[in-house]
Amino acid sequence: MRPGLTLFIDADDTLWENNIYFDSVIDRTATRLTEYGVSTERTREALLAIERQRTRAHGYGSLNFGASLEVLCEHVGIGESLDQLRPFLRAEIAALRRKRLELLPDVPDTLAYLRRRHRVVLFTKGNHDEQWDKVVRSGLRDLFHQVDVVREKDQAAYADAARRLGARPQHAWMIGNSPKSDIMPARAAGFGAVFVPHPGTWALELTDLPETHDPGIRQVERFGELRDMF
Ligand SMILES: [Mg+2]
Repeated sequence: MRPGLTLFIDADDTLWENNIYFDSVIDRTATRLTEYGVSTERTREALLAIERQRTRAHGYGSLNFGASLEVLCEHVGIGESLDQLRPFLRAEIAALRRKRLELLPDVPDTLAYLRRRHRVVLFTKGNHDEQWDKVVRSGLRDLFHQVDVVREKDQAAYADAARRLGARPQHAWMIGNSPKSDIMPARAAGFGAVFVPHPGTWALELTDLPETHDPGIRQVERFGELRDMF
C-alpha cells in the first residue's frame, strides 16, 4: 500500500503474549478449587460469566481479574473459604503482574519497517497504568509515533481516536488479534482492519467475522507478513 497511512496496532496477543498467562492462572485456580468440591468445568464457566459482567463495569486488567477470582469463590458457594484461598489468589495475581513480556515473532523488525512508511499508533484497551507499564517493559515504545490507551475498543472509541489523532478513517487501519475489539468495531468506524489470529485469544474477544467478502478486512497468519501488505 502507498505510504502515509495511520496504522493502529493492538498490543496484548498481537505484539506480545498475554492471555496464555491469564489462562494458566485460571488452570491453577480451577485445580485448587477442586479441593473444595468445585469442578474445573464449573469454575471456568462461572468465571467467564463473571468476567463478562465485571469487565463491562470495571474494565480490564490483572487487578480486576484478581477481584473476579474472589467473586468467583463466592459465586460457586465457597465464600467461607475465601480467607484461606486469598493468599494463593493474591500470589497468582502478583506473579502475573511481574511476568516478563514475551514478544511475538518478528515484532520489532516489522514495526521498525512499518514506522518508516506510516504513522504507527499502539492502540490498546485496559487499565491505563498497567498497559503503559507493559509498553515500557516491552522496549517497543520508540517504535510507535503514539501510544493510546482506552477503556474499551468499540466503534465510538475508534471514531474518537481518529478524530483526536487527526487520522481520516479511510486512511487508517487497525491491526490485531481480536475480532470483537480490533476488527469489527474498527471496520464499523470506517477503518480497514487486519486480523492477526492468535490461538490463545481470550474467549470474550471472539466473535464471528463477516462471511461475505469485505476488501476492508484482511488476514495475515503472522505479524511479519504485515511488511508485504503495508
Ligand atoms: Mg489483543
